[in-house]
Amino acid sequence: MDRGTTHIAIIGGGFCGVMTTVHLLRSADTPLKITLINSGYPLGKGVAYSAYSKQHLLNVTAGNMSAFPDKPADFVDWIHNKEGYTQVDKSLLSKTYLPRYLYGEYIEGIWKNALSTKKADIELDVIDDTAIDVEVNDNGVAILLKKSQPLAADKLVIATGNSEPRNPEIPGKDFFSSPSYFRDSWKGESVSNLKSENDILIIGNGLTMVDTVLGLIENGFSKTIYSISPNGFGILPHRHGGMEYSGLKNEISKPYELSKLVNLTHKHIRVMRNLGLSAEPIIDSLRPLTQEIWQSLSLSERKHFLTRLRHLWGVARHRLPVHVHDMMQNLRINGNLVVMAGTVKNITETADGIKVILNNKKTKKEETITVERVINCTGPESSIKKSNNTLLQNMWKRGIATTDALELGINADVESFRIIDKYGDKLPNIYTLGANLRGMLWESSAVPELRVQVEKLAQKLIA
Ligand SMILES: Cc1cc2nc3c(=O)[nH]c(=O)nc-3n(C[C@H](O)[C@H](O)[C@H](O)COP(=O)(O)OP(=O)(O)OC[C@H]3O[C@@H](n4cnc5c(N)ncnc54)[C@H](O)[C@@H]3O)c2cc1C
Repeated sequence: MDRGTTHIAIIGGGFCGVMTTVHLLRSADTPLKITLINSGYPLGKGVAYSAYSKQHLLNVTAGNMSAFPDKPADFVDWIHNKEGYTQVDKSLLSKTYLPRYLYGEYIEGIWKNALSTKKADIELDVIDDTAIDVEVNDNGVAILLKKSQPLAADKLVIATGNSEPRNPEIPGKDFFSSPSYFRDSWKGESVSNLKSENDILIIGNGLTMVDTVLGLIENGFSKTIYSISPNGFGILPHRHGGMEYSGLKNEISKPYELSKLVNLTHKHIRVMRNLGLSAEPIIDSLRPLTQEIWQSLSLSERKHFLTRLRHLWGVARHRLPVHVHDMMQNLRINGNLVVMAGTVKNITETADGIKVILNNKKTKKEETITVERVINCTGPESSIKKSNNTLLQNMWKRGIATTDALELGINADVESFRIIDKYGDKLPNIYTLGANLRGMLWESSAVPELRVQVEKLAQKLIA
């Protein structure tokens, strides 16, 4: 490599890492070296799009899943050329919730295309390894890898995406090393090699729980599946087929105040209810404004949102395609799926199976169930202090990365994507994006936001 060539290293090869690289490959007009370091999940697919089941669907309509902000129809055009979809009208296709593995194939295609058109003066290395630490020095950064020699780079992007969920807070920590405990429910092992002698407990009651139930049923599991979460809220279906509501958006204005926003939202919910409709389109209508609203709220308002409103927000935002919702309802009616409100008190392995003691919020009683496995579906751990990603932990211990005030991700400047260190300084050459910016932006985990971030970040990196 020429000594004048900038070396950009990217840790994490999911949507964010791969698409940042794609934009760099396309836009760089001076010699560049890029090193993309990825392990854990297949390149480009990450957790979300390497789904082990074809029944695992996108939770965003195809029309909103283009990888490029300036080509909104790109994904729909791509899928329309695929066998099985050529006869489907494009406007209909854009409203559908397609299998996630297909989206993985779409990103794979974009990646291959970017490689085949790569300019000669761009050197690209893809390393299958885990980054475990970072040192900042006068020349840039040194990245420590699990298997290979350390790597020096001028600029570094932390695109580590979704960390494994946090373990439940129970005294019986021994259980976490049991082969009957599945901390990472996104891998196929969590639903395979079933004995079907006992029931199964899923901790968590969101979209990942649904994916796991579908995976268990697909693999022939026929006993009872319990799911438990603090509130046991039911998951709503996408019952309005993309209906748009503008009443609330037209009425809200800056400066945003949480209490006013909540009151206005309630007012519009009443309007919808009086029309015999439900509130989801109102919540959807806030999406383009969510980041702006979040950034303008005070810390106490954000805390209030997290403690009092987050779960309701989650229910309204994370919905199921109608046919999947019907399947879940049928499983519940038939007693195959039992959704509980409550908390897990302890889990121990016994000769008869795994004994789970839980507090049932409805009956206000302690109950014990015996299951054959426990699957953790509580969603990605957002705190870098608690993450089991050694890289993030070490960056936090060194003070290179700090958490935002709510410990939802990494403290960073959202305009430049630069990480803010323990001295409050924006590091000149370490950047982050995606779920790591959740504390700063709240909505920073789905493609409609990420595709904008990857393009903007690539521009900053080569500026
Ligand atoms: C189950 C699920 C379903 C989803 N469905 C949708 C959807 O339908 N639509 C939508 O818009 N969004 C969806 N999302 C959000 C999704 O997270 C984003 O769309 C996007 O895939 C995130 O990409 P990413 O690159 O930030 O992270 P990830 O996809 O998590 O990729 C990060 C990659 O970096 C690797 N990595 C992490 N740390 C290191 C390290 N230290 N060294 C080396 N490699 C490392 C990981 O193993 C992984 O391969 C879903 C998320 C999940 C979890």
